[in-house]
Amino acid sequence: MSFDNLQQILDQRKQRSLYRRREILQSPQSPKIIVAGKTLLNFSSNDYLGLANHPRVVESFKLAADEYGVGGGASHLVNGHSHHHHELELELAEFCNRSRALLFCSGYMANVGVINALLGKTDAVFQDKLNHASLLDGGLLSGAKFQRYLHNDVDSLEKKLVRSTANRKLVVTDAVFSMDGNIANLPALADKALQHNAWLMIDDAHGIGVLGETGAGCSELYKLSEQQVPVLMGTLGKAFGTSGAFVAGSDALIETLIQFSRTYIYTTSMPPAVAAASRTSLKLIQKESWRREHLQLLISRFKSGCEQLGLVLLPSDTAIQPIMIGAEHTAVAISEKLSSLGVQVKAIRTPTVPLNQARLRVTFSAAHSLDDLQQLLAALATVVKEIKFEYPY
Ligand SMILES: *Cc1c(COP(=O)(O)O)cnc(C)c1O
Repeated sequence: MSFDNLQQILDQRKQRSLYRRREILQSPQSPKIIVAGKTLLNFSSNDYLGLANHPRVVESFKLAADEYGVGGGASHLVNGHSHHHHELELELAEFCNRSRALLFCSGYMANVGVINALLGKTDAVFQDKLNHASLLDGGLLSGAKFQRYLHNDVDSLEKKLVRSTANRKLVVTDAVFSMDGNIANLPALADKALQHNAWLMIDDAHGIGVLGETGAGCSELYKLSEQQVPVLMGTLGKAFGTSGAFVAGSDALIETLIQFSRTYIYTTSMPPAVAAASRTSLKLIQKESWRREHLQLLISRFKSGCEQLGLVLLPSDTAIQPIMIGAEHTAVAISEKLSSLGVQVKAIRTPTVPLNQARLRVTFSAAHSLDDLQQLLAALATVVKEIKFEYPY
């Protein structure tokens, strides 16, 4: 086996409309972005609350950079654990109603690091079929027995839990599924996990900041305690509009991660200014509940607009609203057509989602106006007339 076939594999990917390309963003994230010189109405970012370019968040970042410089300079355990990192951890723990919280440089690293710190060869991990790649990778790397249950199916999970003879059992799920937008049945999952002496870990990348009365995410929405959800992971790159992630739970969990989580130990801390900016985002998340309310209004108006156009949406009430298309090439064609009309909605294709379930993943931000939404619906109406497709394909 050699590397001679790299180009051949790339060419095949192109033929199947699966080739991935990067476009150059020339503006901050906001409802209007400039991509490759062109202004587009943006329905593809995860900046759910419109904080990525918020003046107060930017200001906090600048002030902290003046005070602490740019680089973290060392890992947390050497001397890279700054004042802002520490305060943010305390504030996140309180926000999530947990004993403690620990920062990671990204959600991907948090997921890989947590599962590996908790599980080894004599253990088992139970994952929803639609879990995020970082959770799947974390489970595979841990060496624990790897089991996937049917999507959001508590009975399928229970069958596997009953048969398991593993030492530690960790049930892992996206709280909001990133490509479908639906929320996991967390109360039932928490019950099952407790019944079978397992721990439940939730990845609330798309819920934190957005769901729950104060924005504390899915565990607040369902009032789930630290005992019911022992491992709570959230990210800062989406609703917080900054970068990084955290894990919240008991003192014993956090100390275990500090001792054993390799993606925590063997990496430079995030820039202190990112932590400082995240502290300001957190204050805005808690204080400005209008952002969540406006987001819900956009979501419900969008859903009724799509119904009138005859478009098939997945059953989601979150800011992730996938329009189902089916064929990969059709999804790409529609996405390109929308772009020519000044609207950016990215096509999501296999292997991120199953083959022939390609979709346009529309995401909303509290920064969108109702007028932005009308423009999106008008562009979709134009496209539906021009490009015929049927779903299921
Ligand atoms: C975005 C995302 C991650 C990764 O978080 P990053 O901070 O971007 O690395 C993890 N899990 C889910 C469900 C996500 O959507």
